[in-house]
Amino acid sequence: MADQYLMQDPTTMYADRVPGEQYLAGAGTDAELAQNVPADHGEDSYRGSGRLEGRKALVTGGDSGIGAAVAIAYAREGADVAIVYLPEEDEDAQRILALIKDAGRIAVALPGDLKDPAFAREAVETAVRELGGLDIVVNNAGKQQHVEDVVDITDEEFDETFKTNVYGTFWVTKAAVPHLPPGSAIINTTSIQAYAPSPHLVHYAATKATVNNLAKGLAAQLAPKGIRVNAVAPGPIWTPLQPAGGQPPDALPNAGEQTYLGRWGQPAELAPAYVFLASGESSYVVGETLHVDGGMPTP
Ligand code: NAD
Ligand code: MG
Repeated sequence: MADQYLMQDPTTMYADRVPGEQYLAGAGTDAELAQNVPADHGEDSYRGSGRLEGRKALVTGGDSGIGAAVAIAYAREGADVAIVYLPEEDEDAQRILALIKDAGRIAVALPGDLKDPAFAREAVETAVRELGGLDIVVNNAGKQQHVEDVVDITDEEFDETFKTNVYGTFWVTKAAVPHLPPGSAIINTTSIQAYAPSPHLVHYAATKATVNNLAKGLAAQLAPKGIRVNAVAPGPIWTPLQPAGGQPPDALPNAGEQTYLGRWGQPAELAPAYVFLASGESSYVVGETLHVDGGMPTP
């Protein structure tokens, strides 16, 4: 286990967690991923220090991967947390909801499909009701399927990727903004793909460029209301999205080698960026994209 509070060599961290080849059907789960190599969400390491005391957060895709690490960190920093996830991921979700409760915080389960605008609106309204308000929104749910050739990207695949990543972000944000008091934060999960699209991920990369741009535009629009909007751009992070069609199975063992650190990142290494952007510590940080990618050329 890597304790993020100890000085350590980032090149050798997680050397025991290099994945093998794997394919997961559907959205994939952390429960299945763990049969290959388990991901680190900070379960045994994240220590809160009251940075989000009394805050109320909605994290989409909070059942697994990056969103799960964010949900755990937010709860340990003192926030009540609602998570949106696909109903088939309930096993993962229940594990994260239990960890939120273990931190002494309110945990709200919001299973459903963000491709449906009615569900997106309802999820926000339920979160507001159950949490007694809302002041952090993390638009993190996402779909990624690799397709090598543009002629093989079906219209349905293109549509579902935009519906999940872009429309879902828009619908959740639109429903949430009227509830957000000054001091609130919105954080979009974009990607290194927004800046450096891979040839086999062109439609996914386009959604992430849009999500990044939405964060920049909304940052300008909402700053006068005291709502800060920022983005986090992860590099290759070991999460279910990757073996569930995000990458070809045989690319998984080496996918981290393109980074300056030469390895995969773990969800636990993302959480502090989301904590920083949500907390009042980042009060003068607006419209920023924080790259957490092990080192890659970025603008
Ligand atoms: P993940 O599979 O653990 O998380 C994605 C979550 O999105 C799923 O758990 C699921 O609950 C949710 N989701 C997907 N479709 C949904 C829908 N229609 N309705 C409701 N929820 C839905 O994988 P992750 O890698 O942690 O992904 C989180 C975000 O990080 C995504 O936006 C992804 O694009 C982004 N990202 C991931 C990487 C990486 O290398 N893993 C890199 C850059 C960006
Ligand atoms: Mg999941």
